[in-house]
Amino acid sequence: MKIELKGRKAIVTGSTAGIGRAIAEGLARAGASVVINGRGEQRVAAALQELRALLPKAEFTGVVADLSTAEGSAALVDKVKDADILVNNLGTAHLNGFFEQKDSEWLDLFQLNVMSGVRAARHYVPGMVQRGWGRVVFISSESGVAIPKEMIDYGMTKTAQLAVSRGLAELVGGTGVTVNAVLPGPTRSEILGNWMKATAGEQGITQEEAEQTFLKTMRPTTLINRFTTTEEVANMVIYVCSEQASGTSGAALRVDGGVIRSIP
Ligand code: NAD
Repeated sequence: MKIELKGRKAIVTGSTAGIGRAIAEGLARAGASVVINGRGEQRVAAALQELRALLPKAEFTGVVADLSTAEGSAALVDKVKDADILVNNLGTAHLNGFFEQKDSEWLDLFQLNVMSGVRAARHYVPGMVQRGWGRVVFISSESGVAIPKEMIDYGMTKTAQLAVSRGLAELVGGTGVTVNAVLPGPTRSEILGNWMKATAGEQGITQEEAEQTFLKTMRPTTLINRFTTTEEVANMVIYVCSEQASGTSGAALRVDGGVIRSIP
């Protein structure tokens, strides 16, 4: 199977680093023109420079916008009018004490992890339906199914993405547009990589040892006994954005290393 996305325009939110950066690279390798997004001018410029050096023939555009706000989302759609592929990758997590956490922290995370994708889908999906082809992917998490007690708010946002993704797939059924969610497990992205590096530094162990401790204590059901790479997650996303994935919509696709212990 050869994935060919020449002539397709893709937007990947939160793509200057981590999983988003790997998805942007993978889509470009398959021939799509790709819009990179991040909050900071410098980070977007650096990601563009790096990707253009890596793939000189590929077409990349950068949009600086904080998509956790309605204004940031408006700035994105103002700069990029339409898209064939939308990957709602933007998302973050903080370790939180449920009993200490303020309302505003819950609402801010909901804005960032859920509303960023809702707003982008609301703008871009009607055009996809009109043209009779489109791919929308929400990057959820195994934490949307196996809610972590130290990040209940994060789990809530990741479950919400599954609901939005399935509902939207229902809404655009039969139009040539597919909508799916991808559920990564612990992945060596920028945020989790930095966390593991810091833990390793504090405890005088290697990053691999810190990751192993994390898996043993927090995700003991892993079947691969390691963190996934950002490329492994990206591979699933590139497939689900392909022509060949036309039979898959409304699905929650796992790249969680088997952490979730259920069959379907
Ligand atoms: P990351 O922090 O490594 O990268 C996030 C990217 O988003 C960065 O480029 C950052 O600059 C950008 N960004 C952050 N806030 C932004 C904002 N307000 N507006 C625009 N850009 C912004 O994150 P990651 O680990 O690669 O996570 C990507 C997605 O994968 C998230 O939705 C996350 O919940 C999900 N996920 C990650 C893991 C994991 O283990 N890393 C596991 C499951 C799901």
